[in-house]
Amino acid sequence: MNILIKNGTLVTEKEQVRKDLLIQGEKIKAIEETFAQEELPPELKVIDASGKYVFPGFIDAHTHYQLVSRGTVTADKFFDGSVLAAFGGVTTVIDFSDHLPGKKIVEGAHFRNDEAAGEMAIDWALHQVVTSVQDDSSMELKELKDLGVSAIKIFTTYKSAGYFIEKEDVSKLFKMCRDLDIMVTIHAEDDDLIEQKTAELTSDGYPPKLLPLVRTAEAEYKAIMDYGKLAGSLNMPVYIVHLSSSRGLDAVRELKKAGVRIYAETTPTYLHLTDELLSGEMPQRFVMTPPLRKKQDNKALWDGLTCGDIQLVATDHCTFTLEQKLLSNDCRTIYPGVPGTEEMLQLIFTNGVKKGLFPVTKLVSLLAESPARMFGLYPEKGSLAEGTDADIVIFDPDAETIFTNENRHTKAGYTPYNGMKVFGKVEMTLLRGRIIVEGDAFSGTRGKGRFLPAGTPGIYR
Ligand SMILES: [Zn+2]
Repeated sequence: MNILIKNGTLVTEKEQVRKDLLIQGEKIKAIEETFAQEELPPELKVIDASGKYVFPGFIDAHTHYQLVSRGTVTADKFFDGSVLAAFGGVTTVIDFSDHLPGKKIVEGAHFRNDEAAGEMAIDWALHQVVTSVQDDSSMELKELKDLGVSAIKIFTTYKSAGYFIEKEDVSKLFKMCRDLDIMVTIHAEDDDLIEQKTAELTSDGYPPKLLPLVRTAEAEYKAIMDYGKLAGSLNMPVYIVHLSSSRGLDAVRELKKAGVRIYAETTPTYLHLTDELLSGEMPQRFVMTPPLRKKQDNKALWDGLTCGDIQLVATDHCTFTLEQKLLSNDCRTIYPGVPGTEEMLQLIFTNGVKKGLFPVTKLVSLLAESPARMFGLYPEKGSLAEGTDADIVIFDPDAETIFTNENRHTKAGYTPYNGMKVFGKVEMTLLRGRIIVEGDAFSGTRGKGRFLPAGTPGIYR
């Protein structure tokens, strides 16, 4: 189909301009101030976007849809995740594939793609978790990159869940990734410090409110410093996922100052919520790792976004139903994670743009261009460039919404933002030229999402 989006304000990282955008098939055909009648194809759907923003489709660079872990599976399966993402203006997610025990690294990615294909209704890319290496793992990582997975993830914690990677493996792995231009992303919390705190706090069991005392900001600081220094000594870039604390940001800044090419993402949870929720009603709903921190941490992270020390926002969307969440009251075993993809755009628009911390162009940087460049998807994704995928979001900046447990699309059945008022609303989402959300209706198709082979991450180019 051909679609003309008229009279909207097109927003990219660089500028906001009043222009018309023509879509032909799956691609953005042309962008002009106005099109002459003879430039337009005969069969044409015209959409009037007066007073609306026209954004590139957003990217959630950190999701866990249909994650099988710790003996259970998350509430939002691939299709559920696609639907709620589309309502939030997200047309691409970067999900994770596990390192399957006893298998070659790349087999995890193949397995994950096989699961997602036929289910996803939006496009996806992958980060690959690596939990161990052998001397010949370089070959396996090369295969992974050839498949189009150009970022890996390591965990500095979670020994019991099987995610932790031994320190002697880490430097081998770093070198292999550096030599292949693969981005290393890190879940940074120092395991020894966590173990030590866990042992110290033995009195009354481990209710949720103890989580920030077990998994401290200091543990985040230490892990970022240790692994960041290692990356620096190997002259390679490194990326920290879900930065949660002011102390963590201190580490990023210290390393940057020392010349380390360190990049970081934070999530809407660490920007908006605090550990007080862990002392309230059904605190399990707010358990995630790293844990929620204090108001001053929220503020520091907004500051990090504004000044550019944090380059992007992603959600770590990882959902469990209340039934799953309430199975335990021990912060070490409550299933960790909350919903987030659907709310990301409105939250950052409301508390970043509307509050005047940064312009709307910066929103596009944080949620679209920056993740696309960082993870080798640019300009096909994250841009409004002619000739690239017509992933488009039409957004009404004046609409108001109150997030409630009932009006969300997650299968978790609740939102950590229940009762929060936000500005702006996605009116329409297009994936490669097809309307997948219009108003309150989802019109995407299960299985129409595609795996996106990622190129070399931008910082290696
Ligand atoms: Zn995660």
